[in-house]
Amino acid sequence: MTELRSSVTTGFTSRFGREAHGLWSAPGRVNLIGEHTDYNEGYVFPFAINRRTLIGLAPREDAVLRVASSHAPDAVEIRLDELTPDALHGWSAYPLGVAWALGQFGAPLAELHGADIYIESDVPIGAGLSSSAAIECAVAAALNDVWGLGLDRRTLARVGQLAENRAVGAPTGIMDQSASLLGEADAGVFLDCRSLEAEVIPLGFDAAGLELLIIDTRVSHSHATGGYASRRASCEAGAAAMGVSALRDLHPGDLPRAEQLLDEETFRRVRHVVTEDQRVLDTVRTLREEGPRAIGALLDASHASMRDDFEISCPELDLAVDTARGAGAIGARMTGGGFGGAAIALVPRELVAPISAAVLGAFADAGYATPTLFTVRAAAGAAREL
Ligand code: ADP
Ligand code: MG
Repeated sequence: MTELRSSVTTGFTSRFGREAHGLWSAPGRVNLIGEHTDYNEGYVFPFAINRRTLIGLAPREDAVLRVASSHAPDAVEIRLDELTPDALHGWSAYPLGVAWALGQFGAPLAELHGADIYIESDVPIGAGLSSSAAIECAVAAALNDVWGLGLDRRTLARVGQLAENRAVGAPTGIMDQSASLLGEADAGVFLDCRSLEAEVIPLGFDAAGLELLIIDTRVSHSHATGGYASRRASCEAGAAAMGVSALRDLHPGDLPRAEQLLDEETFRRVRHVVTEDQRVLDTVRTLREEGPRAIGALLDASHASMRDDFEISCPELDLAVDTARGAGAIGARMTGGGFGGAAIALVPRELVAPISAAVLGAFADAGYATPTLFTVRAAAGAAREL
């Protein structure tokens, strides 16, 4: 963190030839449990991680917003009164889209001063840890402060989501931004995707000596996009056939009726979502009543459900999960949209090294590309740093 801070400070000066007036940061996130439940208006349980995006900012006298990133060679600038989703392209649509979205939430863009913004991050990009929410939430927090908008964190989450939906064009839910803004150290953000109510739930991983190991398989199977669309369609068809507006309204007790009514494949898609919602609720309750070492079976069951019922796993993810479990993980599951990406394993601290070695060995034996392994901790949400 200290390193990232000084690197943002010097990066700002070398790009813009003056000093940053303030630094803000926001974290990436990992989803502990609750997969493909968001668009079914159900529950998710992510946490903010100790990998962050930092931004340095200095106000300008004119109405120009200029953004630069360590990941991009050139700065991009635009006048505040010219901000529209269509005017934004590439990586700069994330930070500039947030400025536009703040206007949609009442910021008087035509009357405000611009700013120079420089961005650095240690959230891996495209690894399923939401570098996108980290950049959005850091910019939202910074502009909210310097423009004196007074928007609360739940509203800033909606700002980030609007930017991603409209300026970037990605039809994502509000989970990532909620985690990045509302996260707290060693706690998860239990989110109801229908009411958008969020509750911070202590995880207790630190006291229990547990770490969350990320196993990024670095594979991305080509049917990921089509697979996602067809799963969404199955969920909508299942809800319609069952006479509910979203699968969130079904409970495990409704599954026998669903089995009668639905074709075999749609039934299994529905069963994943209904049982996954229940597993999120059970995870929150188990953490409260029994502590984190008791949630392993729920993580394992989540993986089995995605593998067998939702059919979005792949051999690399299954191998990562099975190997981690076999080497002593408390529980493990694939995380994210599926067909590649990362698995997570909840592991006792002293087993991080042997479990990592076992996974690397199994991947080598199978002839798969070498996965990237690292641990993450639940960390605080977006904050002003300086
Ligand atoms: P993920 O959120 O899983 O990391 P996404 O595809 O949703 O992956 O978002 C990644 C995109 O966000 C990058 O391709 C880039 O356009 C933008 N982005 C994220 N972090 C940065 C950064 N530090 N600098 C510039 N652009 C970034
Ligand atoms: Mg993203």
